[in-house]
Amino acid sequence: MTDSNTDPVIALDGVSFGYTVTPVVEEIDLHIDAGEYVAVVGPNGSGKSTLMRLVLGLLRPDDGTARLFGEPAVDFDDGDRLGYVAQHASAAKSMPITVREVVKMGRFPHVGFGRLSESDWKVVDNAIETVGMTAFRDRRVTQLSGGQRQRAFIARALASEADLLVLDEPTVGVDVESVADFYELLDSLHAEGITILLIEHDLGAVTEHAERVVCLNREIYFDGPTDEFVAGDALGRAFGTAATLVEGDE
Ligand code: ADP
Repeated sequence: MTDSNTDPVIALDGVSFGYTVTPVVEEIDLHIDAGEYVAVVGPNGSGKSTLMRLVLGLLRPDDGTARLFGEPAVDFDDGDRLGYVAQHASAAKSMPITVREVVKMGRFPHVGFGRLSESDWKVVDNAIETVGMTAFRDRRVTQLSGGQRQRAFIARALASEADLLVLDEPTVGVDVESVADFYELLDSLHAEGITILLIEHDLGAVTEHAERVVCLNREIYFDGPTDEFVAGDALGRAFGTAATLVEGDE
């Protein structure tokens, strides 16, 4: 699932945005290549979700340019290339549909609203198997734990054969035991070449799993390999001096 195109998967150049006249993110330069596993960290209100909305093309930059797979992010409509997993998968909490039906939606960019072929169903069931949810295939998503629900949404992204996975604090509200499994799943998807952009408050998970860390507080304070982030003082500068990395914090 590598990108033959040489464009970065995500390219933000000089991006500033504010909901009012005051910018919430400023002068953001962020390039993410195919196959990278990047985590964005920062305190509450530092602009992480706003940055993600700019990446997804849901917001238009006031200044600068935001591109996805080489196209302006706001015009991007190649839904099958991009899998988005929201916090809590909240939209699905009240949906009276089964895991298989959720994952089936991942095929819609390929088949429109037409019927799924046998091979489409195979992709759906393989995706369910990859995330370890085969036993829950016919269970309604309302009857799943937070971690299981997030897995179902990852499976939907896999069924669409997305090569970019964008996740917004995916383990908030997820049972502690499932969090480690969830990150193992992301590791294996990364090993298969899927590009991952993760917004995460859990610094233990970030430093253990992501290859590259972007530390945000309106501006980017740090962007580089995870080891350098751990060794440096970016965290203190972005979060204030009280912040420290707690060993084994996950
Ligand atoms: P984070 O995800 O890091 O918590 P956000 O991107 O959600 O940060 O928010 C950054 C700033 O933008 C905050 O001050 C927040 O109050 C403000 N903000 C977020 N969404 C909106 C909105 N829809 N309208 C106005 N202000 C907003």
